[in-house]
Amino acid sequence: MARVHNFSAGPAALPLEVLEEAQSELLDYRGLGMSVLEMSHRSAAYQQIIEETEETLRDILDIPDTYRVLFLQGGATLEFAGIPLNLMRRGRAGYLVTGNFAKKAWQEAQKYGEAPVLASSEGTSFDRIPDLGPVASRVAEGDLDYVYICQNNTIFGTEYRELPQTGETPLVADVSSCFLSHPLDVERYGLIYAGAQKNAGPAGVTVVIVREDLIADGPARADICPTYLDYRLQASKESMYNTPNTFGIYLCGKVLRWIERTGGLKAMQARNQEKADVLYGLLDKSEIFHGTAQPSSRSLSNVTFRTDSPELDKEFVSGAAQRGIQGVKGHRLVGGMRASIYNAVTLDDVKTLASYMEEFEASHSAK
Ligand SMILES: *Cc1c(COP(=O)(O)O)cnc(C)c1O
Repeated sequence: MARVHNFSAGPAALPLEVLEEAQSELLDYRGLGMSVLEMSHRSAAYQQIIEETEETLRDILDIPDTYRVLFLQGGATLEFAGIPLNLMRRGRAGYLVTGNFAKKAWQEAQKYGEAPVLASSEGTSFDRIPDLGPVASRVAEGDLDYVYICQNNTIFGTEYRELPQTGETPLVADVSSCFLSHPLDVERYGLIYAGAQKNAGPAGVTVVIVREDLIADGPARADICPTYLDYRLQASKESMYNTPNTFGIYLCGKVLRWIERTGGLKAMQARNQEKADVLYGLLDKSEIFHGTAQPSSRSLSNVTFRTDSPELDKEFVSGAAQRGIQGVKGHRLVGGMRASIYNAVTLDDVKTLASYMEEFEASHSAK
C-alpha cells in the first residue's frame, strides 16, 4: 500500500488508524451484521455513536453545558445563511472580510439584513488579518446582533492571533480550517462552526457549537428560515430532525477519539507548531520561495508560498507529484503553492516536502 504525502486543503488527510478502524468495521459493525452505512439513524447502536461523538467533542474542546452541539449537513456554506437567519434579530451584524470564505458569508448575510464591514484586508489581497482596533469602537455603538469572523483563511493562509474585542456582542466564527488544530476558548464565542473535511472528518458534516440562549427563541427570521436551518429545532431533536450524515458523524467520532488518545488539542497544537516552523523557517531563508501571508498573520494550518514565476511554480507542483507529494497547488485565487498541514499530516510528511523544497532550490539556484 503506497499512501501519498497529502497536503490537500480539504477534503484532507485522515489519520491512517481511523481509516483502518473504519475498514475493519465496514461489513459488520460490532457483531450487528451490518455496516454503519446501512443502519437506521434511530437504532440504539447509532444513537450511541452520535452521543459518544458529541461527548468526545465536548471533552476535547471543554465545551460548557450552556452550549449546544449540532451535526448538520450542507457544508460551512449553508451556515453562511443559517447564521443570519437564526441570529440577526435586529437586522444588523458586523463582518470582518479577510478572505474568500469571509466574503461569501458577508455577501450571503446581506440577503437577510445589513452587514457593515468592520475591517477588511481585501486591499492587500487578503495577505493579513487587518488591524482590529476599529472593531471595538464600532461594536460599542451597540446595534450589532453579532460580529462575524473567519478565524483561519484557508485559501490565503492567514489566521487570527487574537480575537476582536466584542464585549457583550456575540462573536461568530467560521473555524473550518483551524477547528481541532489547537485549543479554543469556546466561551469567547456565541457560535463557532466548522465543515468537518479539513480536520475533523469527511466532507458532509458541519459541526455547529452555539450558546443556547442565542437560539432559545427560535430563528430570528422564523418567517423564512428553512426548517432544516432552525438551530433551536435541530438542538431539540439532537441533530436528528431528519436523517443526519450517519457515516460522516461516525468517522468524526473516530477522528475525535484519535485526537483524545494522542494527547488532545494541546498536543495537536504543539505538533502543528513544529510542522509549521519547519516550513515557515524554510520560507524565511529561501531565495526562491516566498511566503504569501504577512508573518504576523501566518496560519498554523495552511502555508501559502510561491516562487517568482508561475512556470517555476508549475514545475514545483509536478515535481512534487512525482515524489508522492500531493495537494500542494495553491488555490486558483492566489496561485503558487499551499501546503495544508492539518492534524493528520505528519512531521515526516512535512519533512519530505521541506527536503524537496531544498532540493528544488539547490537545483534552480545553480542555474
Ligand atoms: C472549506 C471552507 C469553507 C467551505 O466549506 P464547504 O464545506 O465547502 O461549504 C468555508 N470556510 C472555510 C474557512 C473553509 O476552509
